[in-house]
Amino acid sequence: MSGDRFTEELREFLDAHPPPAARGFDAERRWQEVLHAEGWVAPHWPVEHGGRGASFREYAGYVLELARVRAPQPVNRVGINLAGPTLLAHGTSEQRDRYLAPILAATEIWCQLFSEPGAGSDLASLTTRARRAGSGEGWVIDGQKVWTSYASEARWGILLARTGPPGSGHRGLSYFVCDMKAPGIEVRPLRQMTGESEFSEVFLDGVELGADALVGAEGAGWAIAATTLAHERGTAFPLKEQVVQKVFLDDLLAWARERGGEITGMDRDRLARCVVDAEVFRFLNLAMLERLARGEEPGPESSLVKLHWSALSQRLHEAEITLWGAAGVAVAPGRDGTPPWREHLWSRAASIAGGTSEVQRNIVGERILGLPREPRP
Ligand SMILES: Cc1cc2nc3c(=O)[nH]c(=O)nc-3n(C[C@H](O)[C@H](O)[C@H](O)COP(=O)(O)OP(=O)(O)OC[C@H]3O[C@@H](n4cnc5c(N)ncnc54)[C@H](O)[C@@H]3O)c2cc1C
Repeated sequence: MSGDRFTEELREFLDAHPPPAARGFDAERRWQEVLHAEGWVAPHWPVEHGGRGASFREYAGYVLELARVRAPQPVNRVGINLAGPTLLAHGTSEQRDRYLAPILAATEIWCQLFSEPGAGSDLASLTTRARRAGSGEGWVIDGQKVWTSYASEARWGILLARTGPPGSGHRGLSYFVCDMKAPGIEVRPLRQMTGESEFSEVFLDGVELGADALVGAEGAGWAIAATTLAHERGTAFPLKEQVVQKVFLDDLLAWARERGGEITGMDRDRLARCVVDAEVFRFLNLAMLERLARGEEPGPESSLVKLHWSALSQRLHEAEITLWGAAGVAVAPGRDGTPPWREHLWSRAASIAGGTSEVQRNIVGERILGLPREPRP
């Protein structure tokens, strides 16, 4: 399909189906169903798996257009953005036929079982074990995961577990599809400072998985997880966020202008800093887009993008809450229906999720600037 035709069809679809203002699990599920009915959940996926075979440029245009019209994200984010692309790249045809269609239809929600209490930034040190079942068929999993977003709703999880001996590092890891309804799985929701419980601890105690749960070869988990993480840190997310943050900033500036003389010098400086940061973020994204359109990998530059995004989003919400003053910490909804304090508190997660800012700075220092590596234990 030509790029122009693709954009035209997308705009026709969005005119006929204006995105809802509501957010949250149910609203996002309904929105995904609307997208799915006309094949717009993952246009960059192959046609035979429910996509439109869109090029990277078309997909980038799609992400920007949806952000521009303030569409909510589809509910099955882990499925669409992480599990699906990983199974497309490394799964068997049976796995792709079994799992991909319900991801797009949002009939089966997915979660990501990577982080553990003792393994976050240093993911390769994880200790959840996968051993072969006594029958020789299938696997038995024991261990604990943490910060698992959507675990309470999930039907399946992408699971990284150790099949090699303890201390075997990244070479001893394998990648599985984990049945979240299997006996031995306990999901304990964690309460966040926003008062919500989006993520959970997940305990795995003698969980039996079939032989067909393994993705790729035994011991190939690290390389397969790299595909998942490249999709998590790399491509579509910052593009969407570029527009989301710009829309947020424009609204904030319009609101500040209405209040005119009430805005103090310090608040003005804060807003000016956000305008500069948003522009830098846009340029970093453009450079990344060019790179990907040339068929190159996101590379260590994706850490710069992640770092800028988290700083910008935190500064924007800080600016908003300061402009609100004491009313910003009240329970009442803010300008767009969401209490400013909720967004401000949530934005603290930006510099942790998907790789902390300290770790991104290490990557920038070592791999882009060529500084000496930090000593490893
Ligand atoms: C909102 C949210 C959702 C998440 N969802 C998921 C999910 O669905 N599935 C999942 O598997 N995980 C998820 N995570 C977990 C996330 O990937 C980890 O929190 C992140 O990788 C950091 O790991 P950690 O929390 O164990 O911190 P640690 O790695 O223990 O780090 C603690 C502190 O030490 C610093 N530090 C660590 N190593 C270094 C170093 N080498 N140099 C300098 N400083 C260092 C860190 O920057 C941090 O400040 C989520 C996290 C958040 C916040």
